Amino acid sequence: MEPREGLHPDTLAVGFGYDPAEAYGAVKPPIVLSSTFAYPSAQAAKDVHRAYFDGPAPERDAPFIYARLDHPNLKLLQARLAVLDGAEDAAAFSSGMAAISAAMLAHLKPGDSVLHTTPLYGGTHGLLHGPLTGLGIKPVGIADALDRESVAAAAEIALKHGPIGLIHVESPANPTAGIADIAMIAAFADEMTRLQEKRPVISVDNTFLGSLLQRPLEHGADLCITSLTKYAGGHSDLLGGCLTGSLERVGPVRMLRTLLGTHMDPFTSWLLLRSLETFPLRNGRANANAGAIAAFLRDHPKVTNVTYLGFLDEGSPARAVYDRQCTGAGSTFSFKIAGGEAEAFAMLDRLKVFRMAVSLGGTESLICHSASTTHYLVPPEIRREVGVDDSSLRISVGIEHPDDLIADLAQALDAI
Ligand SMILES: *Cc1c(COP(=O)(O)O)cnc(C)c1O
Repeated sequence: MEPREGLHPDTLAVGFGYDPAEAYGAVKPPIVLSSTFAYPSAQAAKDVHRAYFDGPAPERDAPFIYARLDHPNLKLLQARLAVLDGAEDAAAFSSGMAAISAAMLAHLKPGDSVLHTTPLYGGTHGLLHGPLTGLGIKPVGIADALDRESVAAAAEIALKHGPIGLIHVESPANPTAGIADIAMIAAFADEMTRLQEKRPVISVDNTFLGSLLQRPLEHGADLCITSLTKYAGGHSDLLGGCLTGSLERVGPVRMLRTLLGTHMDPFTSWLLLRSLETFPLRNGRANANAGAIAAFLRDHPKVTNVTYLGFLDEGSPARAVYDRQCTGAGSTFSFKIAGGEAEAFAMLDRLKVFRMAVSLGGTESLICHSASTTHYLVPPEIRREVGVDDSSLRISVGIEHPDDLIADLAQALDAI
């Protein structure tokens, strides 16, 4: 690998880890579709299998065996994702949920409990409270992830079931923009060794901000998990997930990925390498657009409750953690309009530039009515608790011209 010291993410995202000499001098990496790789000799085949299955971790320069274990585009993508997250190691998956489920299955066993922030991404909630509960693992929600007492109260409940294997943090939360104090939770995990044998592993779902605006590993997380489907992919044309951290933490998850068969395929890995090159540019533009749109909405008489992170109250605990932990407010947030479902639907149906769809982080601006789409399965009383009602809309701001986006929202809000 070439030296990385002192290089900015913008530079690393373009070229890190690839040497044109590896591929006929091609300036861009080729796509290697081969599912299997030839050994130079029988002894070499044995050595390579021994190193993969018995070694501490697959060597960066280890020969390839079979594409489900590793392949050239995956290896290159993982090197680039690791360097962007400031991590020793990375593993890429076929989706964000594939990364989350492998991380949980690798670091939990029956009888364990899990602490998690609330609310959680729907898929993560479903996994923890469905199949993992069925395997004898108990999830316990943390009411306020800025407050150590609240974490301790959840831990007390969890310990009645069994040792805490994992603390899963999603910050900022969707769609409330609730913040968790990762460093405080890491310090709490250190103290847990007084009550149980092993320190809980801390995983942080960093999808909502991404590596350019928040680096959870620097605040004490063991695993940083990201849905690459969102900002890193950035064009709403692929599904992918990634896990970064130390060799020791990522290794067992990568080994499980081989058994589950949830690696990322060569073409998607190549698409992601291409997407990463413009990630900093896209992110900068979308974040600036989001700031302008959030300000427009905050001042609009028919809009309330704009959850844009840049508006966190000065002097509040959330603001203090945000200032320490994040370097930008991102481009996905929620707001409420005057009225209920009928008014929300009338406004949505008038939009011409915004597309009505779930997901986030693409070049195009998206909007959705949370209660009837992303939070459809969440019971109304829990929706109310997390601040989602029939007037709540979530937007993901893209890279179009901000004036066009604001004009589109303005004319649609006239429908109310
Ligand atoms: C989308 C998302 C996921 C799941 O990612 P997929 O790539 O759709 O599997 C997980 N966490 C958060 C916060 C998300 O927004």
